[in-house]
Amino acid sequence: MNLSHLPSVDQLALLPKALELEKEFGRPELILVIRQVLQKCRQRLAEQVTPLSREKLTEEILKELESHLITRSTSSFRRVINLTGTVLHTNLGRATLPAEAIAAMVQVAEDPCALEYDLGEGKRGDRDDLVEELLCELTGAEAATLVNNNAAAVFLLLNTLSNKKETIVSRGELIEIGGSFRIPDIMQRAGAKLKEVGTTNRTHAKDFIEAISSKTSLIMKIHTSNYVVEGFTASVPEIELAAIAKLNDLPFVVDLGSGTLIDMTQYGLPKEATPKEAIRFGADLVSFSGDKLLGGPQVGILVGSKKIIQKIKKNPLKRVLRTGKITLAALEAVLRLYRDPAKLQERLPILKMLTRSEEDIADQAKRLLNELQRINELLSHHGLELTDQQVKSQIGSGSLPVELLASIALKISGTNKSGDKNITKLERLLRASHTPVIGRLSEKSLLLDLRCLKETQEQELIQLLAHSIGKL
Ligand SMILES: *Cc1c(COP(=O)(O)O)cnc(C)c1O
Repeated sequence: MNLSHLPSVDQLALLPKALELEKEFGRPELILVIRQVLQKCRQRLAEQVTPLSREKLTEEILKELESHLITRSTSSFRRVINLTGTVLHTNLGRATLPAEAIAAMVQVAEDPCALEYDLGEGKRGDRDDLVEELLCELTGAEAATLVNNNAAAVFLLLNTLSNKKETIVSRGELIEIGGSFRIPDIMQRAGAKLKEVGTTNRTHAKDFIEAISSKTSLIMKIHTSNYVVEGFTASVPEIELAAIAKLNDLPFVVDLGSGTLIDMTQYGLPKEATPKEAIRFGADLVSFSGDKLLGGPQVGILVGSKKIIQKIKKNPLKRVLRTGKITLAALEAVLRLYRDPAKLQERLPILKMLTRSEEDIADQAKRLLNELQRINELLSHHGLELTDQQVKSQIGSGSLPVELLASIALKISGTNKSGDKNITKLERLLRASHTPVIGRLSEKSLLLDLRCLKETQEQELIQLLAHSIGKL
């Protein structure tokens, strides 16, 4: 194929359609994308046998140019519909925020705010002060500070309290959390020396007592968020560890992982440890995440004694790991909701989703199945059938790993060989759709767990499903 048919960058940029695109996207972007499209075109032409007329070629280039420019101008952030059945899905951004938090974020983004400014004194203030009182109120701690996430909180506390010294941890708690957060690695990077005690399944008080020496700086308990050791097990309760630490004049620190500020059992959910309890049992410092069960933005929260929090705040690494104002604004708004527990379930999206009853989800499934009847013929044409099925949702994010919540999913399964093949194809099409729908494949079926589907998204889901099935 003759490459001389190819228009030049300048020729293309002068065409009326290109001038229109330039107005919308700007000259540098237009030229950059013209170059990219021409480059691809050259490669394709080199392989092509049948020649295209110059007009036809230019027309195709312009079409490609426009579609590239549009793709590049849309955000890489894609809203998705989470039908995975995992409520706090780390890969899908964990907790979604309440309206109050969203409004607060917009406000601090729009105008300057007194972030680190003492309005009374007219001088520099401390950004942690904005939420410290709320955190103390909700956890019973004396003081609080914040960093980027809980991994950073654990790192910072170890670096502050145990640099070049030993931290004693039970062998049953040397956890790895997805995304390469491993306690032994974090300890090493923080400069702390890990002193493991006990065994994988059993650790006793005497293991800790015997391990204490002049090199010890810290006794630490780590919440085993994402697994459970069952059977012949023993661990030392926090209250005992706190007493051992106190007797030896050592701080006792608890990494709670998720942590929740309320008693989850009041909603029929499994019990999860709270910072308040840890403090009451005698912990000097507790760390937990903002975007797990708490239902707020990504942030690492440290609460504990004034003395220790002060020490942590003086560590220069605190500045390295500090939280942004948008996060702080969202966190403050979420924490405020906890002051009115009676309305929390309605206001906090994560709690609303976790506490949805199976009946409520079943009603939603019925509504959807009813409306989706119109695509039954299309489905059977592809060897597929749509039903509903009882499933188990997970809380996710390493919170309460073995506890599952009864839920209902739409189930699409194959009725013949070609149907079976279409299932994986459909899963892919849904992921690639305008608003990606993320379900899960299970035993040759596609399950769309409805726990996290808002009522306002039902029509959208119906359309996306019909559209994707139409593309099979
Ligand atoms: C989740 C978790 C972390 C890490 O928290 P991030 O907020 O994800 O950084 C640390 N420790 C435990 C026990 C956890 O469950």
